[in-house]
Amino acid sequence: MKQKIPLAGVIGSPIAQSKSPRLHRHWLRRYGLRGDYVPLHVDPEDLETVLRAMPKMGFVGANVTIPHKVAVMKFADQVSDRATLVGAANTLIFKDDGRIFADNTDGYGFMANLHQQAPDWDPRSGNAAVLGAGGAARAIIVALADAGVTEILLSNRTRAKADALRSEFGARIRVVDWVQAGNMFEDATTVVNTTSLGMIGQPELRVPLDGLRAGALVTDLVYSPLRTSLLETAHAAGCVTVDGLGMLLHQGVPGFERWFGTRPEVDEETRRVVLG
Ligand code: NAP
Repeated sequence: MKQKIPLAGVIGSPIAQSKSPRLHRHWLRRYGLRGDYVPLHVDPEDLETVLRAMPKMGFVGANVTIPHKVAVMKFADQVSDRATLVGAANTLIFKDDGRIFADNTDGYGFMANLHQQAPDWDPRSGNAAVLGAGGAARAIIVALADAGVTEILLSNRTRAKADALRSEFGARIRVVDWVQAGNMFEDATTVVNTTSLGMIGQPELRVPLDGLRAGALVTDLVYSPLRTSLLETAHAAGCVTVDGLGMLLHQGVPGFERWFGTRPEVDEETRRVVLG
């Protein structure tokens, strides 16, 4: 029997804006591997049908993005500990018998990016201030707690969502009202924006930033634009700044390795290619 060409893809709705196809195709080319990676627009009502069909079509796995990251969990036959903890999956591996393994690599991507771009950063040096309590915040909170930050100060426009994360993830989280979010920074050596504020087409982040500490690490999950006004202000205040593109690139590493058998490297060339 002839071997199938290994395929992977990213499932979402909408999906045209995704940078993942460019990333994975670049790695396939760079390492001379057989295979392809495609964007797949899948509406929520079709998710299960599509997932069940994919292994039969030669797919060895997939990335999952908005709005399917939570829904996909119920179709998985096996779920990694970190995906269970986060409550969402962004990486699927299809076993030979069609069973689905679900993992979450967002926290890994977040940490790997910070360690690469800010090698002197020590998460244990103090508190982390986190803006936002949406889907992405869950993976960031788990990763920061795991990395040993002292306390996580968490602020979200809708306070109930931050309170819910505190109930779920424990006492090392202190919730701060959105109107007082700026006060968190004086106490923080790590600052993370997980909201969509500052993204092209979204409102600007209006939280006062004058409390940012020189030397603190400030990172933004928004990567479009690459240099958000949060990062520009933080840089001017003497903070170490890291953009969100690297998180996107690093979160793709474990999936690519499982699907295509080679662990890809994230470097300047990868960034250039993905930015186009
Ligand atoms: P989400 O679940 O929709 O959460 C959005 C968050 O932004 C919530 O905390 C929401 O607050 C807040 N927000 C939205 N509009 C706001 C406004 N006008 N004022 C105040 N807060 C507002 O989205 P997500 O999946 O967490 O993604 C968040 C951002 O991270 C997006 O920009 C996404 O592109 C980016 N991201 C980047 C990466 C990467 O690899 N770099 C990975 C994942 C996500 P409420 O709860 O009050 O609505």
